[in-house]
Amino acid sequence: MSYKLANEKDLEAMIGIVGKEYATNNKAITASYLAKSVMGLESQIPDIVVRPKYIEEIRKILVYCSQEKIAVSPVSGGLSGGFACPTIKPAGVLLDLSRMKRILEVDEENRYAVVEPGVTIGELWAYMHKNHPDWAPPIPDGAPPASTVMGDAIDRGFSLYTSSVGPQGDNFMCAEIVFPNGDIVRTGSWALPFAKPFYKYGLGPDIWSTIMGSQGALGVVTKVAVKIYPHPPYKTVIVWGMSNPYDMQNLTLELGKLEFGIAHHTVMVQGGNYPLVMTRWPKDKVPHDYKFYEELGISKWWMNWEIWAQEQSELDHVIEVINKKAIDFKENRAKDGAAIKPQQLHPKQIASRLKKPNKIAVPYAFYEAGFLFITWYTPWNECAHFAEMYTEIAEKYEIPPTLWIASIERCRQAICMPIVCFDSTKQSDFEKVQDMNREITEYGLKQGWLNYRPDPYIHAPLTFSQAAMYWKYLRKIKKIFDPNMIMHPGRLALP
Ligand SMILES: Cc1cc2nc3c(=O)[nH]c(=O)nc-3n(C[C@H](O)[C@H](O)[C@H](O)COP(=O)(O)OP(=O)(O)OC[C@H]3O[C@@H](n4cnc5c(N)ncnc54)[C@H](O)[C@@H]3O)c2cc1C
Repeated sequence: MSYKLANEKDLEAMIGIVGKEYATNNKAITASYLAKSVMGLESQIPDIVVRPKYIEEIRKILVYCSQEKIAVSPVSGGLSGGFACPTIKPAGVLLDLSRMKRILEVDEENRYAVVEPGVTIGELWAYMHKNHPDWAPPIPDGAPPASTVMGDAIDRGFSLYTSSVGPQGDNFMCAEIVFPNGDIVRTGSWALPFAKPFYKYGLGPDIWSTIMGSQGALGVVTKVAVKIYPHPPYKTVIVWGMSNPYDMQNLTLELGKLEFGIAHHTVMVQGGNYPLVMTRWPKDKVPHDYKFYEELGISKWWMNWEIWAQEQSELDHVIEVINKKAIDFKENRAKDGAAIKPQQLHPKQIASRLKKPNKIAVPYAFYEAGFLFITWYTPWNECAHFAEMYTEIAEKYEIPPTLWIASIERCRQAICMPIVCFDSTKQSDFEKVQDMNREITEYGLKQGWLNYRPDPYIHAPLTFSQAAMYWKYLRKIKKIFDPNMIMHPGRLALP
């Protein structure tokens, strides 16, 4: 597939649509959109950055770029990393949607909020806190405040109550999408002109689910309705430590299966291994040896249960049942019962964990400046296998085997997230990380595990080479919405 290199005439056309303040090819500005971290290590500097505010502007930009065969990559917050930028040369137009900032509606009875793409999670959280304090929007738990709800939807991420209510994709009800063929489509019940966004599956087969996970490769989402959930006053976090990932997996699964009573109260169930602690500090400032962490009382593995309840008695009950079940597991079914113990959190640790957005993942960048999430979904009862495999492979590449694991929908799935800390000043480290990524991907796909956000160079090609029929239909669908294949080329192995 070949694309046109955007030139001065194209910049003039963009200026004609959005005005001269909002379209530029100034190198200092275009280069500032390049990021090589977090979700991917390769990206290109866009040729033109355009910052529309209105749907009609987006429609005109897409129709123009489609006619001219210029690549377009939409970005809401741009914090999913390098791959928010175009991934091919010529890089084309980067559509920065950060000016579309309206929170259009919050309906407490039908329990949804309607937002535009540029609404950041920090802004939505603050708005709800001020105006609707009894309700919590599904912001991603650990993402930076400047990332957006829209970007997370299209990435199919996970929210602050994902362990209770399911994957982030399930929280999105209806959407408005502009396609490069010039059409504006509203999905779900929104397909009817006067309907509220109360029903996701709409008028027969559901188009929105096709867009979910598309990562900007099909069209531009300009409005979305997201579910909101109660934000009850009684909350805490409890932690159990253990020596190995199998005890972590199996104890958590036993508790996850206590649905309708216990597990629905555990909004965020997430844990990992002790390198998570050391990789939150500059590398040369902390010991790397487990002995140091053992003396501080940190277990090799642990799991946190963040619990929300409407009443104190309900909170106490959930804590009591979790602790009782953990002791029963320790005494009767654990691989290494002696190592299973509750970990006491300081009230400040609990308060910081309960604060949202919690920014929990941001400090990993301190360790060696570069960090990459290589995130996988597995069935919950295979996450210990994933952990064992990852530890072995990471150690082979001399990378700290930092692993974060969270339950989705009461242990129906696990999100397994290696946090790969590397030295971003060394080219050899980039190569090492990609070699490791490839090895994990080859192994993971054979187990039937899936990437959270498939990158275009390793995950997507390897995945779709094993799912040829699915990819064939994905391509056909893309052709309908995006006949000249201009949207975020390279993503999902599409062209
Ligand atoms: C430190 C850190 C911690 C994180 N923690 C979490 C977490 O706890 N949970 C979680 O789920 N995620 C997490 N993430 C991942 C990511 O930040 C979130 O998914 C985030 O919400 C992405 O939003 P964004 O606006 O930055 O997305 P962007 O980078 O703007 O976009 C994401 C993708 O969607 C496409 N896209 C964006 N907007 C549109 C649109 N309007 N129409 C069509 N396509 C579009 C882009 O082309 C891109 O491929 C974390 C990221 C970081 C850096």
